[in-house]
Amino acid sequence: MSDFVRLRIWDDPAIRGALSWYLDVAENRRPAKFRIAATVATQLDPAASTEDALWVELDRLMPVFVARWQAIRAGASLPLAADGPSLLELCRELAYRMLAHCNFCPWDCRVDRISGAKIGACKLASGSRVSSHFHHTGEELFYRGTQGSGTIFFTSCNMRCAFCQNGDISTDKDNGEETDPRTLAAMAWTLRREGCHNINWVGGEVVIHLHAIVDAIALLGRDFTPTRVELKRARKTKADRFFWFDEMPDAATYDGKFNAPMLWNSNFFITLESMKILRVLTDVWLPDFKFGPGRCAMTLAKTPWYWETVTRNIALIADWGEDFSIRHLVMPNHVTCCTYPVLEWIAERVPSVPLNVMAQFRPDNFCDPASPKYRSKHAEIARRPTRMELDDSWRRARELGLHFEATTFERHNPFGTAAMHTTGEGLALL
Ligand code: SF4
Repeated sequence: MSDFVRLRIWDDPAIRGALSWYLDVAENRRPAKFRIAATVATQLDPAASTEDALWVELDRLMPVFVARWQAIRAGASLPLAADGPSLLELCRELAYRMLAHCNFCPWDCRVDRISGAKIGACKLASGSRVSSHFHHTGEELFYRGTQGSGTIFFTSCNMRCAFCQNGDISTDKDNGEETDPRTLAAMAWTLRREGCHNINWVGGEVVIHLHAIVDAIALLGRDFTPTRVELKRARKTKADRFFWFDEMPDAATYDGKFNAPMLWNSNFFITLESMKILRVLTDVWLPDFKFGPGRCAMTLAKTPWYWETVTRNIALIADWGEDFSIRHLVMPNHVTCCTYPVLEWIAERVPSVPLNVMAQFRPDNFCDPASPKYRSKHAEIARRPTRMELDDSWRRARELGLHFEATTFERHNPFGTAAMHTTGEGLALL
């Protein structure tokens, strides 16, 4: 048994139940979904087919894929990968077709990002830039584990959160290094062989890089081994390259081939089409559920259709039987309009999900009074949440019976997962 499995967070039945597939893949007891997708053959030639035909084929193959995933989950062995094109290549081709009239996210810009003649709300053409990649030791314990979460951090975003704590990365499309799918695959390959428990695709926002990520995962599903040149190129953005990590190739394989759970760490402002592709490739999802159903997503993030999009997507992954946890960041002056409705929706729709009700909001970007970027219209969020706002948020989560304490307070509870009370003890520790 690995040190990761021995973490007492896994003794919590709700967490273990919600993240059992992810844990099995992280421990290489099961193949990742991208490995299963490679076994589902398609008779179509993806490159020679119309986009409409590709979507019809995806819909036809999805039940086959899901049935195979469920069988493997129950203990069946992994069939051999298809000799010809598979669901993996179908997803890759669809992502590139979408890129030519981009509808990765609900902005639905319909610009041709391959030609790059026009750009959409994310300001990107076809290139993808990575700001850094590294063993992340700041994620939830079930993601960071003992060796870190293998994080690949992309630039740019499709939302405009005034308080973004990664504003230099999310608002600067030229931050980081231009990368390509083989270099991305080399980053994932290295992080996993260095012991990371998952590959954590994050930004900015990741869905705006869907084509590059799907392409990289498709490579990993087809016996990818990076060249020395690709490893060197990937290393340029490795933030922890001056630390030594022992390579553990055996900890990165299932049935002798590369294996790693794919973690989709996202604002969930994603179209249905992108969600369908991601369903094939994502082993565990991490939606960041920020705003309530009122106008806050517009006033704070210039994002229309937020509530309906994010709730639809979370409901989808629940209905699909996926592994996921949710994050919610408590914002000053937004407990009643955002935190309460978010918690209430979760209680009604996905009550057993592991939830992180986060306290770490600090004024940054356009709401930091000390910054030249500060805008006085954001004065209402130009401070940290008060103790009372945090206490009210956690109290409401507890009243609703949500499963948040083990996840939210684990850093203050290193010896186990026993619930910690937020009134008094929990707050005192924070
Ligand atoms: S990813 Fe979203 S914001 Fe960017 S071009 Fe596509 S639809 Fe527009």
